[in-house]
Amino acid sequence: MAQLPDAKLFIDGQLRDATGGRSYDVIGPWTGQPVGRAADATAADVEAAIIAARRAFDDTDWATNTEKRVALVRKYRELFEANRARLGELAVHEAGAALGAVNRAHVDMALDGWDDYLRVFPQVKWERDYGTRDTWGMTHHRFAVYEPVGVVAAITPWNVPLYVNIGKVVAALLAGCTVILKPAPNTPGMGAIFGELAAQAGFPAGVINVVFGSDPVEAGEMLVTDPRVDLVSFTGSTGVGKRIMEKGAATLKRVFLELGGKSAKIVLDDAPNFAQDVAMTMLVFHAGQGCAVQSRLLVPKSRYQEACAILKHAYASFGDNWGDPANPQHIMGPVISKRQMERVMSYIELGQKEGATLLCGGKARPDKGGGYFIEPTCFTDVTNDMRIAQEEIFGPVLVVIPFEDDEDAIRIANESHYGLSGGVSGGDAARAMKIARRIRTGSVSVNNGMCIAGDLPFGGYKASGIGREWGVEGIEEFLETKLIAATV
Ligand code: NAD
Repeated sequence: MAQLPDAKLFIDGQLRDATGGRSYDVIGPWTGQPVGRAADATAADVEAAIIAARRAFDDTDWATNTEKRVALVRKYRELFEANRARLGELAVHEAGAALGAVNRAHVDMALDGWDDYLRVFPQVKWERDYGTRDTWGMTHHRFAVYEPVGVVAAITPWNVPLYVNIGKVVAALLAGCTVILKPAPNTPGMGAIFGELAAQAGFPAGVINVVFGSDPVEAGEMLVTDPRVDLVSFTGSTGVGKRIMEKGAATLKRVFLELGGKSAKIVLDDAPNFAQDVAMTMLVFHAGQGCAVQSRLLVPKSRYQEACAILKHAYASFGDNWGDPANPQHIMGPVISKRQMERVMSYIELGQKEGATLLCGGKARPDKGGGYFIEPTCFTDVTNDMRIAQEEIFGPVLVVIPFEDDEDAIRIANESHYGLSGGVSGGDAARAMKIARRIRTGSVSVNNGMCIAGDLPFGGYKASGIGREWGVEGIEEFLETKLIAATV
């Protein structure tokens, strides 16, 4: 396995080690062995990053010089392009991406998203004229100006780190904010490269800062509670999202949250490609570690046995074609960590205790290497009240739930405290669309329409989050509204 370059912090324009030289091993999910070392930021390092970001926002022209910002963000993008191979290596060795997944969600889609941000940027509204109104014998001209919110803390997870880091950092920079990126402890390298390439691009000191450490909480919580940070943009689990809201309340910080999901895919009885629709829901891509994955498959009772047979065959055909880091066809590797493996395995045990039928998989696979391998797993005879149907497992575990009719399917899909994504497939477009409109989630795909792209707003209802990332809306999340009225 490759040895990754040391992950350095980037604070106030300097690439550097942590104060006192503290560092930690980055454990590779394929082997369970160190694949690199990362600086282990101290509280003093986080403090220095906050001071730098504050100063760069308050005392430079970064917030107001749009031309300079766009030119630098374009140059930054070119440097990421030149480092595509390294980004792929980081996705593989830190996040455990299989080679066949690297060129999809991990690198290509992430960089495409960056290009989309640049494409939609001219649509961002910086002013709005509300016209005049006569009051108190005078005429008032009213207009709004939209201004960058200030210092942004971008706190990100390990599952698709490049994608999420770009989603926050690029949007915040384009909006005119300064940024402190705090990646997850497992994926510091995918954060460190933002510092390294920012140094090469020549960003003014303090505009971008990157801090990370072995403790998952310390640096993030400092950013969330500090009054000098204006907005926290967080992607991660719902539990941590709630804590961030709570902790951010003391300074009335704006919080933007992209959280977990338990999205449902409804395959209707008249779906023209019923077998294909059912089979493609197999939760194998990146070992199911995606927030918007459709991890509940809802099929009509009348075709339930048929769906189970299709899945059994699909999983058998998938077979052992996963878990090899050298195979470019593989789209599934290990889960991220020992802790995550234990968590997923405990859900597999729970599903059996709850009375679901283990149709396929269910075992850990130490024979694949020293890392964290779990077989593609599918539970049938699942009812929506089971914990395996309600809780986000974040592993390669699909649950299959029968429904009676359209109303029942909608009820089941919506009986979840999450509301991130979902899908409906059916032969009657109007019927499928009617169902899609009633699903309470931030995005819904009809007949496998692609509802995730860099030019589209993405986010959740209910416990899946607050706010939207990507698209014009994703940039405008980082703006404040100032209303000016002047007598004329
Ligand atoms: P996590 O919530 O454990 O951690 C996310 C980030 O928050 C990490 O950087 C972590 O160090 C930091 N953190 C942890 N505790 C903190 C605290 N108290 N204060 C501030 N920061 C803190 O999530 P994870 O395990 O890294 O990622 C998996 C989760 O992310 C899943 O629930 C998944 O659904 C979610 N996710 C959501 C989306 C989305 O767009 N909705 C995208 C990807 C992942």
